[in-house]
Amino acid sequence: MSEKKWVYLFNEVEEAEKYTGSWDGVRGLLGGKGANLAEMTRIGVPVPPFFTVTTEACNAFLAAGSKFPAGMWEQMLDGLKAVETAAEKKFGDPTNPLLVSCRSGAKMSMPGMMDTVLNIGLNDETAKGMVKLTENERFVYDSYRRLISMFGSVVLGIKDEAFEKVLDAKKKERGTKADTDLTTEDLKDLVEKFKVVVKAEKGFDFPQDPIDQMRLATEAVFSSWNGKRAVDYRRAADIPDDLGTAVNIVTMVFGNTGWESGTGVAFTRDPSTGEKMLYGEYLLNAQGEDVVAGIRNTEKIVKMGETLPEAYEQFLDITKKLELHYKNMQDMEFTIENRRLWMLQTRDGKRTAKAAVKIAVDMVNEGLISKEEAIKRVSPANVDTLLHPQFMGNTKDEAKKSGKMFATGVNASPGAAVGQIYFDADTAERMAKEEKQKVIMVRPFTKPDDVHGMLAAEGILTSEGGATSHAAVVARQFGVPCIVGASMMHIDLDKRELESEGVIVKEGDWISLDGGTGEAFLGKLDLGAPSLEEQTDLMTLLNWADEICAKPGTRTAPEGWPTTGLQVWANADYPKDAQRARAYGAKGIGLCRTEHMFFEQTRLPTVQRMILAETSEERVKALDELLPFQRSDFEGLFEAMDGYPVIIRLIDPPLHEFLPSEEVLLEEVITMRVKGETKGLKEKEDMLESVKTMHESNPMMGLRGVRLSIVMPEIVEMQVRAIFEAAANMTKKGIVVKPEVMIPLTGHINELLHIQPRLIEIAKTVMAEKKVEFTYKFGTMIEIPRAAVTAGEIASVAEFFSFGTNDLTQMTFGYSRDDAERNFLVTYVEKGILPKNPFQTIDVDGVGRLMKVAVKDGRETRPSLEVGICGEHGGDPASIEFCHTIGNNYVSCSPFRVPVARLAAAQAALKYAPKK
Ligand code: PEP
Ligand code: MG
Repeated sequence: MSEKKWVYLFNEVEEAEKYTGSWDGVRGLLGGKGANLAEMTRIGVPVPPFFTVTTEACNAFLAAGSKFPAGMWEQMLDGLKAVETAAEKKFGDPTNPLLVSCRSGAKMSMPGMMDTVLNIGLNDETAKGMVKLTENERFVYDSYRRLISMFGSVVLGIKDEAFEKVLDAKKKERGTKADTDLTTEDLKDLVEKFKVVVKAEKGFDFPQDPIDQMRLATEAVFSSWNGKRAVDYRRAADIPDDLGTAVNIVTMVFGNTGWESGTGVAFTRDPSTGEKMLYGEYLLNAQGEDVVAGIRNTEKIVKMGETLPEAYEQFLDITKKLELHYKNMQDMEFTIENRRLWMLQTRDGKRTAKAAVKIAVDMVNEGLISKEEAIKRVSPANVDTLLHPQFMGNTKDEAKKSGKMFATGVNASPGAAVGQIYFDADTAERMAKEEKQKVIMVRPFTKPDDVHGMLAAEGILTSEGGATSHAAVVARQFGVPCIVGASMMHIDLDKRELESEGVIVKEGDWISLDGGTGEAFLGKLDLGAPSLEEQTDLMTLLNWADEICAKPGTRTAPEGWPTTGLQVWANADYPKDAQRARAYGAKGIGLCRTEHMFFEQTRLPTVQRMILAETSEERVKALDELLPFQRSDFEGLFEAMDGYPVIIRLIDPPLHEFLPSEEVLLEEVITMRVKGETKGLKEKEDMLESVKTMHESNPMMGLRGVRLSIVMPEIVEMQVRAIFEAAANMTKKGIVVKPEVMIPLTGHINELLHIQPRLIEIAKTVMAEKKVEFTYKFGTMIEIPRAAVTAGEIASVAEFFSFGTNDLTQMTFGYSRDDAERNFLVTYVEKGILPKNPFQTIDVDGVGRLMKVAVKDGRETRPSLEVGICGEHGGDPASIEFCHTIGNNYVSCSPFRVPVARLAAAQAALKYAPKK
């Protein structure tokens, strides 16, 4: 049997494709960076010679307790020979030395989260050889000192500060702030001093043998897969732990050989706005890390057209070629060595939510990708971000007028954020997680070690760095509003305060950021919901999503089941919610919780009178007073949803929810008695008595839902009258009404058999009285496991089902929905006892199974049965996908989630589309 292939050369992308069977497989095997370097080589883009050690080798290394798998090292040495031949240089040869970088690269890009070492191959001997060859002594010793410090910190685990201290001392001695001002002698001296640091910290010398350097660097990169920052990042970005990282050994090209060299990063489109323009930065006479770290101030990429025009023209051509090849916005790194351009990386660029939508829509219009592909490229989280709160109206103008704007910087990641400031990642994370504070993290610049704080923060503000600095890239990816390079700020990390144009802001103070404009304000500015209509690209994309879902044949399904995708409806209790739902694209109301109308201040006393009534006449009298209120609410709903179905749920909660609590009443009664107050005492005492008699140990499993309607039918009789009067009145006004009356919490068919015919009678009576006809439905919620398993019977009465998955989850797990999240669910998820919080994402194996049975049995009885979901899960993308697979007609969610759900529904339709 031949030995396993652990190493792929720069020209072996086809072999990798053969082995894995797909481009996705190649990316998995060689990592994104390795795969794209190989692909660029294949299509004729200049890439320095390299080889890639596979992710399989990394996993084998980690599984074996940090031991290279058999044959891997030998293959690396062979790979090195091939690279030497292609580069026409030799590793460790003082007369013509090859230098390489050792770069991490996982399947998914994890910017800066894993390790990279540059300039491997330099030692005291090769350094001398390089000097002869390049006649640039300064450059060589600059590279050498960079190798020792990078190798020292990344491979040997020495703290950065140990080297920074020495460097700072040197700069102080020279009276300069910039590395570029240091002389050759200074750099040579730094090399020696850095070596001393290594010896002092580790007890051994900096390894002079280039082969040792390569071996140790490879081990360090593999091990960094399990480093804290990489693990934190994977958790946040949902990247599986078992992917592993590849190692790329790449011939070094130098951007720091002088002023005809340079290095930069660029995107083919603006990653913040999505605009079609080359966007990026570069630095002359610098090495890659200087740009990405955001430590030196960079130049805009277009400026390169003046300083290095030929390389710039060539670069422009390559960027176009790469975007056309990958049919996606590219994020590229390049180096120019003595006017010669080399591409060091290309990958699909990370982008803000706004840019994701714009680029997807633009690329369809440019004929690059299909509408379906555009839908797949935007995540539900992107849509969510775009509808996140923003500063409303003229809030910002007023803040500016009153002098509250204290800093401005680069608008690195859009969105509004309000929070208390903290100056380091650990404190930021702790305050957010433990103290539940809204936090804004403020730093001079961020490093990969800061990611946990950045993820916990509402916003990020830095005083240094540009649009492609670490802070900007990470913030954009996770949709955290961010401003970078607010250079008027001076951050004093010791005093834990910042000063900006005379204003001092201390740790814990509130500030507000607008990441879209780069403005920072003192205090808390007002946030509000943005409008969807103004976001035309998003509207276009969501209309495409609806088109996809509306196509018959999207779902393969048994006879009579829907073959289109899911519709998205909304849960709305008031006409204004319904209007928003409609504006956000809802095609119906899936749940109107009528009891919410009872809670309004003007109505509550009447509701209480109704509950406390001792005779049916008294109760009916109070209900007669409530009827006009309900009717007018329903009229508003029908009007807003003209032409669309409106599901109105009859009263559901236990009645004690409308009354004051027993403790409060008791206290009031006692106080009145003690003070000798008699006015109103009797009423209070009566109410206390009623509350006591109504007391239940488990009210959520007590007298509520349909049970209440059976015991006290007058309430739902009033509600049905109000619904049908409203529908009739609106019909007369020319509005098309489609009322659907929903009976909650059914557990047994007999409950429906008892109540539904009485209610239908009322409906018919009202229509006869009003002399109008319209179609209507009566149906039920499925929120009790017994209802789900007897759905076949229940569907003989109910014309529709709506899964109330809040209650269904509560009752299936036996968890109290009001207490579980607070008491133990977080621990359950942390310990992996449950994969997800089942109140957020449907538990497919348990609750989901009941739902599946209910749809199937229900439609066996009544093929036309309409099925929806109105629990909180209706707005959760994973749950929406599940609802698609079991044959729901629609999902219903909060109006604010409607756009997210529209996209998720289309993505589910595409994922499960029947193969053509
Ligand atoms: C449900 O139980 O999922 C539901 C929508 O009803 P409620 O949350 O009002 O109990
Ligand atoms: Mg419920």
